[in-house]
Amino acid sequence: MAELLQTGLLGLDFQELSALVQKHGQPEYRARQLFQALYPQRVPTLDAISTLPRPFLSALKQEGMEIQQPAIEKSFASVDGTIRYLMAMPDGQTVETVWMPEGDGGEAGDGSDAGDHEWDRATICVSSQVGCAVNCQFCLTALLGVKRNLSAGEIVGQVIAVLNDRKVDLERQRVNIVFMGMGEPFLNYGNFIKAVRLLVEGVGFPESRMTVSTSGIVPRIHDFGREPVRPKLAISLNASNDELRNRIMPINKKWRLELLMQAVRDFPLRNRERVTFEYVLLDNVNDDLAHAREVVELVRGIRCKVNLIALNPGPGIPFSTPEDRRVRAFQNLLIEAGVPAFIRRPRGRDIYAACGQLKRTVA
Ligand code: SAH
Ligand code: SF4
Repeated sequence: MAELLQTGLLGLDFQELSALVQKHGQPEYRARQLFQALYPQRVPTLDAISTLPRPFLSALKQEGMEIQQPAIEKSFASVDGTIRYLMAMPDGQTVETVWMPEGDGGEAGDGSDAGDHEWDRATICVSSQVGCAVNCQFCLTALLGVKRNLSAGEIVGQVIAVLNDRKVDLERQRVNIVFMGMGEPFLNYGNFIKAVRLLVEGVGFPESRMTVSTSGIVPRIHDFGREPVRPKLAISLNASNDELRNRIMPINKKWRLELLMQAVRDFPLRNRERVTFEYVLLDNVNDDLAHAREVVELVRGIRCKVNLIALNPGPGIPFSTPEDRRVRAFQNLLIEAGVPAFIRRPRGRDIYAACGQLKRTVA
């Protein structure tokens, strides 16, 4: 068993907690109690764990150990009910996590305290890295570059911090998780997968309620298909041919469309599962009907759907948002060719919480 280097307990799995408990000469069942407190109960501090003996808790604290949930440094509420959280990690780095309620009262649009409206479903969008190295030309996160990977505990911790802030009861309320915040999850693969397992086995999310999006890190798509526990797969396609994709997503020079689409074709889908392709529409760049026809050819034979997102604009992004009419024409062409296509409405654009807008804006 490897030496425990981290001082944050959040992110340790059952085996690692067992090793810790053993090192302290405690009985094995204490590991189960710690696991229960950290994940299903989402307890914020060691002192708040009532099931463990005080001397054991003191010994842990003496070693500098704490649970270390990320701290909510700031939050911004949108008129549509979306909340963008700025989360501070123990080393002071910050990332963003977004809460998106849906349903009857979720979108009052009246500017009142949006976060407190009734909701019947919600989605949490989590970050996987501080910044991103992939450099997509339409994405604000790219402008930060990548500072570091998030640990499994920091990924799970974002979810727990939001669930606690929103006082969510997962047994009664339905919440989805999307790994679509800052960063490229497949460039932090080990920590991402460990976080998934802790969310499933610990916090209590079914794998069917999670989706991960990748810009196309082909070898990891193959690995991901072999995982016994995994979210659904989404691919950020965004361009219909290599020339265009090289230009707006430079990662395409490393894994061109042919390799990417082959990885998706080889991907072992579960019963009734579909792959999602995301396509950000950039006015007069990738949104012509000719591009839509190329998309139809690319995805032929793949059990999939396409989510169309009109560009969310931002400072320093050299593209503009197409008019609705162009977006609908693109969608119609796909649908008429038999490809299910949906237009994703932006969430929380007013507070810089929408796709591609996460860059730790603090006002
Ligand atoms: N790095 C991963 C996941 C995070 S990005 C990935 O790229 O897949 C989540 C989604 O936001 C991606 O599909 C991306 O194409 C989209 N996106 C990025 N910038 C955007 C923007 N300015 N407007 C709309 N969508 C954007
Ligand atoms: Fe990174 Fe995704 Fe943004 Fe590309 S779209 S820069 S992969 S976060």
